[in-house]
Amino acid sequence: MKAIIIRYSEIHLKGNNKEYFESALISNLKTALKGFDLQFGRSNARYVLRNFDESLTPQIIDCVKNVFGVHSLSVAEEVPSTLEDIRAAAIALAPKRGSFKVSTNRADKRFPLHSMDLSAEIGGDVLENNSALTVNLHNPDHVINIDIRENGKTFVFRDVIRGVNGMPVGTGGKAVAMLSGGIDSPVAMYMMAKRGMSLRAVHFHSFPYTSAQAKQKVLDLAAIVKKYTLRMTVDVVSFTEIQTAIHERCPEEYMITIMRRFMMRIAEKLARINGCGAVVTGESLGQVASQTLESITSTNAVAHIPVFRPLIGFDKEEIIDIAHKIGTYETSILPYEDCCTIFLPKRPVTKPRLSAVEKVESALDVETLVQNALQNVETVVIE
Ligand code: ATP
Ligand code: MG
Repeated sequence: MKAIIIRYSEIHLKGNNKEYFESALISNLKTALKGFDLQFGRSNARYVLRNFDESLTPQIIDCVKNVFGVHSLSVAEEVPSTLEDIRAAAIALAPKRGSFKVSTNRADKRFPLHSMDLSAEIGGDVLENNSALTVNLHNPDHVINIDIRENGKTFVFRDVIRGVNGMPVGTGGKAVAMLSGGIDSPVAMYMMAKRGMSLRAVHFHSFPYTSAQAKQKVLDLAAIVKKYTLRMTVDVVSFTEIQTAIHERCPEEYMITIMRRFMMRIAEKLARINGCGAVVTGESLGQVASQTLESITSTNAVAHIPVFRPLIGFDKEEIIDIAHKIGTYETSILPYEDCCTIFLPKRPVTKPRLSAVEKVESALDVETLVQNALQNVETVVIE
């Protein structure tokens, strides 16, 4: 019978908290596999999937390998622990050509042959069956693994597929992530989910200056990121009133800085309303005018909770590589306008002084603008 063996990472380092991390991982795996009919089991420090439709194996693997906390997985043949059954499975799984070796792990010490002896025996059988193969114990092209479990069953498998590692989502606290339609913020979400954070997103939208497609693009990005965060809710906040007020009352070169401060204030409020302890952004130091140390200082000055910027030390190219890997890139580059692109100053201040920013901003009724925006939130649960 086909089985999928799931091995987990870092979690086993967590000593007394081990059970907490394990149950989070199990629950996340079940969430990720919700759409499949299968049976979920445990085997020592592994999980095993059984009784699934074999034709769906690639899709199941794709779901499992993207669950944070999964170290690796293997598609195995699970057979009774007898020499005949193991031999048959090994021959069926053997490569067609090239060099190979057999590697045995014998958890069940009642099995009559020692690991080395069984490997040699099965290796001989495989070789006898296909003379195009050669044995190479030190640097083989292929490995046939035999794992004899204590329950009278043995797994025989070839490849080890790498998982994404990281910590199970839900074990690292909760945060509100600021999600634009760009390349960076979805990657930032991925990075924090990887460390076990549960995330929800906030998006600022300036209808009618920004279109319905621009908003849909962000919801599409959120749906892709959900593959990793497992759950996703997006608070879409109307930013039009705030942007119009800044445009009318503040010098244009401060537009972006002041917008950012409003975004941060609202994100923090949403964090508190939703029991989140941090805000996440996709900022990367020096990438644009709003991401200099001075700009970040101005934005950060209004925040009273931790702000995580997982991309702060990344080059654009490195961020793009991750965006490709996680599948957000193609959506991110669709050419819809972002609210940051309207009323854009020709020459934004790149090194705003906080005192100057505060002075400029005092022309606005900050509290009322923030309250109004919070009354205009559309909460979208991504299914
Ligand atoms: P991104 O690729 O994520 O859009 P960027 O390089 O375009 O980033 P900025 O536009 O300066 O950089 O945005 C910096 C960060 O501010 C974004 O990564 C995101 O976290 C947040 N942000 C910007 N615009 C919005 C928006 N409309 N809604 C929500 N968050 C936003
Ligand atoms: Mg952007």
